[in-house]
Amino acid sequence: MKAQPADPSSGIPKIGPAIRIEGARKLYRGGHLAVSDVSLLVDQGTVHGLLGPNGAGKTTTLKMLLGLVAPTEGTFEILGQPAGPAMSRRLGFLPEQPYFPPLLTASQVMMFYGRLAGMDTAAIRERTSVLLSQVGLEGRGADLVSSFSRGLMQRLGIAQALVSSPELLILDEPASGLDPVGQRDIRNLILAQRELGITVLLSSHQLSEVEAVCDEVTILDSGRVAQRGAIDTLLNITGQNSVTARSSADQLPEKIASIVGDVVVGSGTWVFSIPAHDSRRVVDVLDDDQEWELVSIQPKRESLEDYFSHLVSTRAEGQVSR
Ligand code: ATP
Repeated sequence: MKAQPADPSSGIPKIGPAIRIEGARKLYRGGHLAVSDVSLLVDQGTVHGLLGPNGAGKTTTLKMLLGLVAPTEGTFEILGQPAGPAMSRRLGFLPEQPYFPPLLTASQVMMFYGRLAGMDTAAIRERTSVLLSQVGLEGRGADLVSSFSRGLMQRLGIAQALVSSPELLILDEPASGLDPVGQRDIRNLILAQRELGITVLLSSHQLSEVEAVCDEVTILDSGRVAQRGAIDTLLNITGQNSVTARSSADQLPEKIASIVGDVVVGSGTWVFSIPAHDSRRVVDVLDDDQEWELVSIQPKRESLEDYFSHLVSTRAEGQVSR
């Protein structure tokens, strides 16, 4: 891996991407083209979301990267090296549906994966105790996997992915099967990994999860990259501001009603969008009106859900970009 010039602001040398995929293609036996052309770049120390509807090719892309599915075409690099068995000790992987032999206990599962990663027994025990507690399985180490619910199995899957303290964590649908508390725990765990400088690539169609933790996203659709970029850039709607105001009135002031779009009202709180260049006028009108109290005005941000459905529907109409 070629080192890049040091970043004067941090003093830490910047190095190449954690993951580089170029021109990935997978034609399954039987002629199904699951991935037609996917390129992906994940910067070190970031959390990157791989998004897409069912069947978009997310899992196949991850499996090609991990060597679990033979690619038809493409270049795959992990931490600057060609992806392959030599790299497997430096990464942790949570599959979409983790499966562990039912007659093993949670601690035995951790021991098995720790040994696979070349760790010694004492190190695995120490790591197991920390990780089981981090994923909410404190005190469950001696329990058989067969007694675990789907959500508990998912938590154990995440603990096993972290056992070797990997530099890169690849999570396929990490929130799948988890209740809201479990989803929050996993979000916090992912953010804690980023704090430690670990790169995380996660695949998901749980958009709120991606929005909460990812620095960047790549959106797949029908085996191709439909969009990529920083989440904030993708979601900011240029030229629109969102206004929050309080009033017991049953309609907006006449002077601004005609320029307002997307009005949502509830319990005296009004949220509406306006063209950004009309912001001054709207502030003045609300200030001058005794019935209205301006709470906030800020650039409008689309929800990832809206963005995603818009993207997929415009592609269905044959448009490539918005
Ligand atoms: P999901 O969100 O539903 O998990 P995904 O984006 O991860 O979907 P993949 O699992 O990569 O998508 O599947 C992409 C396409 O390839 C789908 O149409 C799927 O049916 C097909 N596919 C996946 N595995 C195989 C296989 N082993 N043989 C043939 N086709 C496959």
